[in-house]
Amino acid sequence: MTVPIAKLSFWGVRGSTPTVDPATWRFGGNTPCLELTAPDGTQFILDCGTGLRMLGSRWGTPNGGGNHETHIFVTHYHWDHIQGIPFFSPLYAENNEFHFYSFRSKFLGRDSLKQVFEAQMALPYFPVDMSAMNAKRKFKEVEGGDIFNIRENKITAKWLNHPQGCLGFRIETPAGTVVYATDNEPGDPKLDESLRELAAGADILINDAQFTPEQMGTTRKGWGHSSWKEGVKLAREVGAKTLVLFHHDPDSTDRMVDSLLRQAREEFDSVFAASEGMVITLGAAGDNVQAHMPGTRTSLRREAQFRAKVTGVTEGGKEFQEETVVRDISLQGALISLQNMPQLQSELQVTMQTPGEDGLQSSMRLKGYVVRIDAGAEKGQIAVGVVFTD
Ligand SMILES: [Zn+2]
Ligand SMILES: [Zn+2]
Repeated sequence: MTVPIAKLSFWGVRGSTPTVDPATWRFGGNTPCLELTAPDGTQFILDCGTGLRMLGSRWGTPNGGGNHETHIFVTHYHWDHIQGIPFFSPLYAENNEFHFYSFRSKFLGRDSLKQVFEAQMALPYFPVDMSAMNAKRKFKEVEGGDIFNIRENKITAKWLNHPQGCLGFRIETPAGTVVYATDNEPGDPKLDESLRELAAGADILINDAQFTPEQMGTTRKGWGHSSWKEGVKLAREVGAKTLVLFHHDPDSTDRMVDSLLRQAREEFDSVFAASEGMVITLGAAGDNVQAHMPGTRTSLRREAQFRAKVTGVTEGGKEFQEETVVRDISLQGALISLQNMPQLQSELQVTMQTPGEDGLQSSMRLKGYVVRIDAGAEKGQIAVGVVFTD
């Protein structure tokens, strides 16, 4: 018997507006777009932020979607959640078919999402008009409280607390349950309760973590967003297994997101900060939830043989120190063989021996951030990819 497996991919994780500055490169600058492939092959897309373009450009590849039935849930109509639509190339191919789900906005009335499409592509905002979009598109209105099935998957929609309204979605697949709750501000008792119902027992809870707890109480109160602390509180209350911090503020540098993640990890066991290219599999034998970052955007690489000393913390929370060899290096990071398995998204101290002047050894100390773990590539060794942050 094969085990049902679902795959969740993060194509855009930034909130409000895309960022391109180098200080936000590691977590990524595209706005919200997630893809969930259920065990029955049904493909779900959650939000159509600028990350959708990347998903579209992988469409033709073996793992890039294609012949599936695709259902697209749009949480609300703020720019950061719809901006990728005109740039999603599969919409221009005749033999594709998409089912869109979103709510009727009181500002737009009937066929809200269809109107959004048309308005976005009206001249002079975009060079081609709607007639170029040849894929079949079906629009369905959903609202908070709706429950429906798509093949073997059960979908629940609930209202969240956000200016002009927003929907959260719960997708129950035979491999596990994913809850997508972004663009939400806690504090409305009724909507807080409805979010708890939505998130109950989730295997993966993707939660708005745009602001710091301090900002939430002061300058960003009423902006419709949440913090890592509220996410941890919710995850505990509803018994969610893994929490994913999402919708990073455009003004949060990678260092700032690192710090939010570190604080959240002090209070909850399984937390990740959503990162562009990150893939989480659900339902795999042995470990229910596994995170990978296979598509790390790397630059020029060179094979190398640097002796190095590495200190870090294992997945089990134990500190380790070992001597190894750095096998390949780029300006941004390196691939290191280790016997200990560090935690994904944790920090390692890497001290490399470099031949100094006059044949004397000198050393180079770098802070490496774990972006990739490949177990079993070599017997007894784990290949660990790090990005240097210092
Ligand atoms: Zn947003
Ligand atoms: Zn919003």
